[in-house]
Amino acid sequence: RLLHFALPNGEISLDYQPQLDRAGRIVGVEALARWNNATLGAVAPAQFIPVAEQTGMIVELGQHILETAVMTLREWHESGIELEQFSINISMRQFTHNDFEAQVRELVQRHLDARLRSRLVFEITESIVAEDINRVIEIMQRLKASLGIRFSMDDFGTGYSSLSYLTRLPLDELKIDRAFVCTLGRQEEGPAMVATILNMAEVLKLKIVAEGVETAQQHDFLMRHGCTVFQGFYFSAPLSKDRFVEFFRSRH
Ligand code: C2E
Ligand code: MG
Ligand code: MG
Repeated sequence: RLLHFALPNGEISLDYQPQLDRAGRIVGVEALARWNNATLGAVAPAQFIPVAEQTGMIVELGQHILETAVMTLREWHESGIELEQFSINISMRQFTHNDFEAQVRELVQRHLDARLRSRLVFEITESIVAEDINRVIEIMQRLKASLGIRFSMDDFGTGYSSLSYLTRLPLDELKIDRAFVCTLGRQEEGPAMVATILNMAEVLKLKIVAEGVETAQQHDFLMRHGCTVFQGFYFSAPLSKDRFVEFFRSRH
């Protein structure tokens, strides 16, 4: 398979999508994997991440992504780009791999001081609850306690996790899935669902990030209902590293 050679050939890179607060300041970023192949062109992560998961390649790929992201966080800090949070997607298969915790610890301790460590946010998905939940909770707690890493539930509302599981996980943040955000201003029940999720996040004392914000109307609705962080094409698409730096500087 071509994916097998993607890493050694240097075909995997990261894009960075800005996250803005209520005042429109850039407060965070999400790192998103990109695969550019000579024959296939640009392959979407929704296509190659599942393949990498099935073949087990996600462990190596995920480690590479983590390393790249950690180095970017440090480099940006050194050049005066301070972000409150730096989010990285972690696949379930990667998270539950035996070496994951030790590799994260080694990488983070080697490259980041305590202040930068606490800017890391690992985005996990609801599929993680299909795993041994107690083990997942333990790993999360250890990474939080020893390194200050924060956790976010990505694509919230699209999976099959129960609320009782959700409250047991030591989460810091929920990301409302684009599927909900794009119903705003369309279906009748869409806005009510989003308002309910925002309420729930408040009760659970979780930070909430709205994903896939594409229009001013969606942004207005989310603002009125107390959403704190926004991410989507309305502000910016995912950008290459250099273009993110330009975007940040043009706004600050
Ligand atoms: P995700 O983590 O939920 O990432 C958000 C996706 O929504 C990204 O797609 C982003 O480009 C897209 N997006 C952002 N704003 C908008 C918008 O306003 N409108 C629309 N229509 N889309 C928007 P992308 O980059 O194609 O990634 C798809 C998924 O692949 C991600 O969903 C994530 O689950 C996975 N993925 C991406 N990078 C990684 C990675 O490094 N590791 C792992 N394990 N998974 C990754
Ligand atoms: Mg994500
Ligand atoms: Mg998502």
